[in-house]
Order: sequence, then C-alpha cells, then structure tokens
Amino acid sequence: MAVKRDEHYDEWETISPEARENFINGKLRLQLRHIYDYSVAARAIFEEAGITADDIKNAQDLARIPVTRKEDIIRLQEENPPFGGLETVALPDVERVFISPGPVYEMQPAHVEWFSRALWAAGFRRGDVVLNSFTYHLSPAGLLMHEGLRNCGATVVVTGAGNTEIQLRAMKHLKVNGFLGTPSFLMTLINKAEESGEDFRKNYKLERAWFTGEPLASSARAIFENKYKIDTYQGYAVTEPGGVIAYECKHKQGFHLMDDYVVEIIDPANGLPVDAGEVGEVVVTPVHNKTWGLVRFGTGDLSRLDTSHCPCGRSAPRLRGILGRAGDAVKIRGMFVVGREVEGVMKAFEDITNYQLRVSRIGARDLAEMVISTKAGADEYSITSQIASEFQARCRLKLDSISTVPEADFKPGYPRIEDTRTWE
Ligand SMILES: [Zn+2]
Repeated sequence: MAVKRDEHYDEWETISPEARENFINGKLRLQLRHIYDYSVAARAIFEEAGITADDIKNAQDLARIPVTRKEDIIRLQEENPPFGGLETVALPDVERVFISPGPVYEMQPAHVEWFSRALWAAGFRRGDVVLNSFTYHLSPAGLLMHEGLRNCGATVVVTGAGNTEIQLRAMKHLKVNGFLGTPSFLMTLINKAEESGEDFRKNYKLERAWFTGEPLASSARAIFENKYKIDTYQGYAVTEPGGVIAYECKHKQGFHLMDDYVVEIIDPANGLPVDAGEVGEVVVTPVHNKTWGLVRFGTGDLSRLDTSHCPCGRSAPRLRGILGRAGDAVKIRGMFVVGREVEGVMKAFEDITNYQLRVSRIGARDLAEMVISTKAGADEYSITSQIASEFQARCRLKLDSISTVPEADFKPGYPRIEDTRTWE
C-alpha cells in the first residue's frame, strides 16, 4: 500500500465500499481457515454449530456461529490453561502476552499497525510530543498506543497512569502538545494545574487529545475544546479482540470501523444481525490476528452502524457512538431503546422538568408512552409535537402518546424508563 498521505493514513481508508467488503471478506476467509486449523477452541465452536470454516464465505455467514463472551473466554482458560485453546501458535512464536481483567491471557502479534489509523485521523504527526497516560502494566493499551503514535511519527512521553504532578511537570518541560488517555484523567491534570494557581491554557501547550476507555460526555468535550482549545478525538477499543475497533475523524460524527475486524450489530437475545441502521450489540471478529482464535466476540456495548457518506472521504461505516450496555436497553416492538438516547432527545427541551418513558403491553403489542411535566407557561402543544418527531428520528420508534402530568407525579429517584411488561 501507498505511504502515508496527508489526511488519510493509507489508500485503504478511501477505497469504495464494495472493494472494502471484498477485501474484508477475503481476510475473513483466510482468518477463519487459519483458526479452524490451529485453534482447538475455535474448531470446537465450529463443530458445535455443525459447520467448518469453509461454510463461512462472508460476513453475513458469521451469524451461523454463536457469540463468544468474556465469561466464555474466562471459562475456557480455566478449563484449559493458560490460553483456553484460543491460541493458534506456540508461545515461543509470540512476542507478548497481555493479562486483562478476568484474568484473561491474550496473545498479540508484534508490530501491529492498525491502531495507527485512529491516531493519524486525530492529527498526530512527526514533531508532536505526546503524553501517553494509558497504562503500560498488564493492559495492552499503553504499549499498543505507544506503537501507534510511533507509526505516525510522534514522540512519546512514557508516563502511564497516575503521578499527576510528575506528568504536569513533564508536560511543561517537554512542551507536550498531545495527550492520550481517558477524559477524566485529562480533567484531573487540568484541575490539578489550576489548583496550584496556573493558567492551563497559557502555561501548557496542549492542543490535541485522544481518548478511549471511557465515554467522552458532550459537556466535557465542549469544555476541552472551547475553554482549553484542545481538539479532542475518541477511539472505540475492546481488549479481547485486539484493541481499537473504530475511530473518529475530524468530523466527529461517529467512529469509522477499522478494516481489521468484521463488526456486526446483533440482537443479543438470538445472536442474529439487526436490520441496517438499528441499535444492537457490537460483535467483533478479528481478521488480522493470526495468533488468536477469537470469533464473534460479544462486547456487550450497544451501537448502530451508519453507512452514509462522511465528508472526510473515509469509506468505512461508522459506529454512531456507544449508546449503553446491552443490559441498559429495553426492547420495544423489536427495537432497542437506550436510556441515554432517550435522555439525549429530552434534554434538548429546556421547558421539560421531568420525563418518564412508560413501556407496557396490551395484548401482543408493546406500548411506548412518554409522560412529561413542564415549566409554567410552556407551549405544550409545540413541545409534544417536537418530541414526537425527535424521538422517532433518534430512537427510531414511534411513541404511542405524549402526555403532560403535574410535577408532583414524579417521585424522587423515579426511573427514566419504566417497563411494566410481564412475560408470563
Ligand atoms: Zn469521517
């Protein structure tokens, strides 16, 4: 492939969607053939499903294989230590083993390059001096992001987590202009600097930050970007399948998928893909890792896939944020509705003081009713008609009714979504 270009990391980022699909399906077939031949655990999963690797020709066929979850990996490794039969090579052929919470032992190939795209898209280049506060202990994050930064040409200041005073001093002395870590740790650093009477904007040179590991709230993003003039980017990373799965470009309208994974959005109840654009669980199959026999890893995270054009020119579909955990969603008329999405719709209305989405069931039909209270003098007619359209646009579900009740009807600590359906 071509050398790094100015805006895009390489030509794979802008190939046509059809070429991308063919490319990934080709890698998928090779990967599955490899893990079927060499991973005892992967072969057992295929055999249980009554198929061989040759039965999976493309991403759509993956639905024939059951989803593997974190608990399954822990169980496999307990039964068959240390790697649970997921390994496809012998230990002497592996450069590194990570231990992630579980504990789970994970093999990873050396000199991985796939993370680099995420950091390149965030603008890291040669000449940048970047504080890497991801931990270098046990977790893969520190080392992998370090390599990603080097692939972009940036200089890494190796700090790992903690030691805020040392980190702040290093930021000043080395004129650090980039940060990698969690949003909350960056906020801690800024607060610490300000507590000691410093003007963070003036005394530090930070202009770019890349986050993963925890969600970046839009309020926190606004503070970083507007108050401190730090350009912020996020990556979506999952340790078990190998790290960064998707990343934001400068338009920040979702996370472009890496070509090193097949990403499916499924219904966790049956493991089958949801309809295009709907909310479901993110399931990841690595197609780049020839040491590790993981297939269809269920992340437990909820998102939806957006295949619309992105002005950055990258053709990979985007995950539209992480909307919650699979346990946080309610399924209404076959659609997952996530508390955070509902909140996103309702928070836009300043005149709404309280709201609750009530889910019930009449016969065989789910009923979704929104109940609100409003400030005195609010234009209720206009609010309810706007909620109806906003809710449908964002949550993809038509509300059956929207009604206003007195403020006093909302008891302290009431749930935002009340599901009274029974399944007896
Ligand atoms: Zn883009």
